[in-house]
Amino acid sequence: MSKKVLITGITGQDGAYLSKLLIYKGYKVFGAIRKSSSINDWRLKALEVHDKVELVQFDYFNVPKIIRIIDKIEPEIIFNLAAQSSVATSFKKPIVTSDINALGTIRILEAIKIINKKIKFYQASSSEMFGIASTKLQDEKTPFHPKSPYGMSKIFAHWATVNYRETYNIFACSGILFNHESPLRGNEYVTKKIISGLTNIKFGKQKYLKVGNIETMRDWGYAKDYVEGIYKIVTASTADDFVLATGKSHSIKEFCEITAKSLEIDLDWKGKGIETIGIDCKTGNTIIEIDKKFYRPSDVDYLIGNTKKAKTKLNWFPKTNFEKLIEIMVNFEVSLHKK
Ligand code: NAP
Repeated sequence: MSKKVLITGITGQDGAYLSKLLIYKGYKVFGAIRKSSSINDWRLKALEVHDKVELVQFDYFNVPKIIRIIDKIEPEIIFNLAAQSSVATSFKKPIVTSDINALGTIRILEAIKIINKKIKFYQASSSEMFGIASTKLQDEKTPFHPKSPYGMSKIFAHWATVNYRETYNIFACSGILFNHESPLRGNEYVTKKIISGLTNIKFGKQKYLKVGNIETMRDWGYAKDYVEGIYKIVTASTADDFVLATGKSHSIKEFCEITAKSLEIDLDWKGKGIETIGIDCKTGNTIIEIDKKFYRPSDVDYLIGNTKKAKTKLNWFPKTNFEKLIEIMVNFEVSLHKK
């Protein structure tokens, strides 16, 4: 009989890629979904795993109900990926964000403690916990200083994971993942917005794209590489916390430039700061504008991960560089226009 796993947040970007990987590795995958009138299964369908996973309704706010479901499934591993994962939204919905991201995590850990301490637990921690980091590169020992309700909520969940490991000897581990993208990224994220906006412009379906602070720097990797890292974290001999990143940081401005190049748009910048505009040199049209509306109340200027520990202990390396990631995302978006 195949080993069983339960993935919360299975309908998200990472949930879909992780399902595909685990099915390939021979696991029976159960996916926790929140109660709603429609199931958001487009990502599972895009990866052709929707008919290979078993979805179960999950009440993230009720420990007895969580216990009943886990007890029934008897998973060997629980991957806790469910989260209100948008930093921007977390400023508008700090309480909802904390309830699912922070308390939702401890409710599952509590259920594991009650049912069976042998169930392994993976927590989706985030580089946003570092916030205004005091070091140029961030690793597992870098102090946290979050700059958003999202970062705050993830720190609670991260420390809950560490504490349940240390106090109750549960195999509770976490991956502190830096930004990772894919064609399955949600539309609310800047990377997907740039890719789909510039592709629409290329195909004459949109005139211009509005973005926030284009100087913000992030360490962007490919989600498919990162779920392989997640699998290595939970199958390591001891439970521990690992940073997964590329070790290279790029600005949103560069993201626009490489995307434009991929689409054969001749992009040039004019002006400074909030007045900066992106011009299509062939048409002379303004195709990118800065809008203060998309600036966050407080932001993190740059993040770069140090993956020495994951490389040494897990033999994990990101395989996809920045340019290749953008090419993968652009090709997917272009294919939608050609259908
Ligand atoms: P995602 O695409 O936004 O998926 C989030 C998942 O959580 C979806 O399945 C969503 O369900 C579920 N969810 C959202 N709000 C919920 C709520 N209030 N109650 C119950 N479920 C809820 O996120 P992702 O990119 O796959 O990321 C997976 C995990 O890694 C998240 O915890 C995220 O915070 C963390 N992380 C991501 C990154 C990254 O760059 N992607 C980096 C570091 C950490 P619906 O489909 O029903 O909305």
